Amino acid sequence: MSRKYLIAGNWKMNKTATEAADLVQEINSLAGSQTSVQVCICPSFTALSKSSELVEESEVFLGAQDMSPEPSGAFTGEVSAEMLRDLYVTFVILGHSERRQYFNETNEVINRKILAAIQNNLKPIFCIGETLDERESGSTLEVVRTQVREGLAGYPSSAIENLVLAYEPVWAIGTGKTATDEMAQEVHADIRKVLKEMFGDSAGDSVRILYGGSMKPENADGLLSQPDVDGGLIGGASLTSRAFCGIVDAAGRACA
Ligand code: PEP
Repeated sequence: MSRKYLIAGNWKMNKTATEAADLVQEINSLAGSQTSVQVCICPSFTALSKSSELVEESEVFLGAQDMSPEPSGAFTGEVSAEMLRDLYVTFVILGHSERRQYFNETNEVINRKILAAIQNNLKPIFCIGETLDERESGSTLEVVRTQVREGLAGYPSSAIENLVLAYEPVWAIGTGKTATDEMAQEVHADIRKVLKEMFGDSAGDSVRILYGGSMKPENADGLLSQPDVDGGLIGGASLTSRAFCGIVDAAGRACA
C-alpha cells in the first residue's frame, strides 16, 4: 500500500495576512511545483483568503486550523465548513491539543467537527496524542486508542480517503523534545491497528498518519523513514520557508 507523504504546516496564531503572503510565495517557489510530496499550509483564518489566491497556480494545498461543527447561524466568532470550502480550503486541522487544552474540546465535540468536515468534502487532519503524565504512567496506547475510537465514531467508510490522522505527543509540541523514531512508529502502528479494526484492513492501510511534535529538518529523515509515519504536522518549523521546505525535501528522500 503506497501512501503519499503529506507535510502540513500549522502556523497557529502567527503571521498577519501580509506576512503570510510573503511566506506562501517563498514556499511556492521552493516546493510549489513538485508533486512527489503533498504540501499543505494552514494559516490563520484572516490569512486564508489571500493565501488561497496565492496557491491557486501551485501544487500547495490550503488548510484551516479549526472549524465549527455547526453549518451556520448564531454562533458568534465561528467559521463553518462551507465558508472554508468557498475559499478552496482542502484540509482542516481538528482536535489539536491546544484546542483540547485551552478551549476544552472533548472527543465528542471533535467527532462532531470531523463529521461536519467530511459532509462538506473537507479532509480532516485529526490530531491525537498523550500528555507527559499519561506517557509516564504507561497509558499512551490506551489514551490514543480512545481518542481515535471516539473521534471517529460514525465516520463513514465511504469517506476514508479523506481522512488524515496526526499523532502529536503533547509533551513534544513546541518543546523541542521529539519522540524517538521507535516511539513514533510504535504508536503509529497501534493507531493503524485500531483503524483496521474500525474500517477493515485495506481502508486502515490507506489512511495517512502524520507525526507532529518538534519535527525539523534535522530529525525528519529518521521519523519519516518509519513504515507507518506518512508525513508531518509541523508547528514552529513551518514558520520559515527554509525549515519547512527542508522537511518537504526529507519526505521526498523518504519516498524516493
Ligand atoms: C503542532 O502544533 O502541531 C506542532 C507539531 O508544533 P511544533 O512542531 O512546534 O512542535
